[in-house]
Amino acid sequence: MTLPARTEEVVPGLHRIDLGYVNAYLLDSGDGPVLVDTGFPGDELAILGALAELAVAPSAVRAIVVTHADPDSAGSAPALREATGAPIHVHPSDAPFVPFDADDDLRPGGAAPALPGVTVLGAPGHSSGQVVLRWNRHDGVLIAADAATNIAGLAPPEPCEDPVAAARTFGRLHRLAVEVAVFAHGAPLVGGAGDALRRQALAERQASRSLIALPVRSTPPS
Ligand SMILES: [Zn+2]
Repeated sequence: MTLPARTEEVVPGLHRIDLGYVNAYLLDSGDGPVLVDTGFPGDELAILGALAELAVAPSAVRAIVVTHADPDSAGSAPALREATGAPIHVHPSDAPFVPFDADDDLRPGGAAPALPGVTVLGAPGHSSGQVVLRWNRHDGVLIAADAATNIAGLAPPEPCEDPVAAARTFGRLHRLAVEVAVFAHGAPLVGGAGDALRRQALAERQASRSLIALPVRSTPPS
């Protein structure tokens, strides 16, 4: 028997579906619920249980947004498409790496599917086609996917397809001017998320500078 995942209302319209290792989200920005990420393959029963707990009929789900091609974000997407009838949206750069055919593209700079007020933004590094979502309500809400984690504090993701790009993406998240941020891994930040992201971006930058500045002791050739 699969127990339903633990659900938590982060802000009105946004629910976290805690699958243990990873989070999925249910976002309704005014036009019906959209599932953002889907856990591992096999997590579909827990997610459907969470929908039931939130009194959302599977057929009410308007779209499935897969933020990137990892198995813990894309895993249950095909089973949930089957259960809900909702189309799956993936960025074209990550689409070749998911084990199913996506129904539609996610285009950075454009509107998110069935989500008024929500913008899709490119967040490369963890994967080249990763996207994050920014919702223009509640003073700015960021669905950060794996562009940042918040397990034992804010940090860039690990592992990464391109660590330099991931660090650059992490360092820019605070510019999205958000008060709320949620992550694939770890707890939501409600209130002051942009400030926390800016502080951590600065700390990461200083840490990488001091790594570069470490004295190199050379041994004279013998
Ligand atoms: Zn990932």
